[in-house]
Amino acid sequence: MSRSRKTPERTCIGCSLTADKRALVRVVRATDGHVDVDPTGKANGRGAYVCARIECFDAAATRKRFDAALRVRLRTDDIDRLRRELEALLVDAQASPQGR
Ligand SMILES: [Zn+2]
Repeated sequence: MSRSRKTPERTCIGCSLTADKRALVRVVRATDGHVDVDPTGKANGRGAYVCARIECFDAAATRKRFDAALRVRLRTDDIDRLRRELEALLVDAQASPQGR
C-alpha cells in the first residue's frame, strides 16, 4: 500500500467517505460568491466534494453541508440548479464508455 500516489483524496460531504479526488465531484464557490459544479476540479475558489452520486448530493444538501463547507447560504433554487448540473454531469459520464 504505497502512499505515494499522486491523486489526493477528498472527503464526500454527503456520506463522509474518503475517495480518490477524481472519483468525486467538486462544487466550488467562486470569489464572486457564485456556486457551481466544477467538472474540471480546477476552478478558483473554495471547494467541497461529493461522490458522483445524486444520493450524496441530496444528503449533503439536506444537511446543509454545502453551506458549512463553502461558507455560503444556498437557496433552494441554487440547490436545484446545482443538482441539475450534477445530474447532467453524471449522464455525460455514463454516456461515454471510453471515459476510462
Ligand atoms: Zn458520498
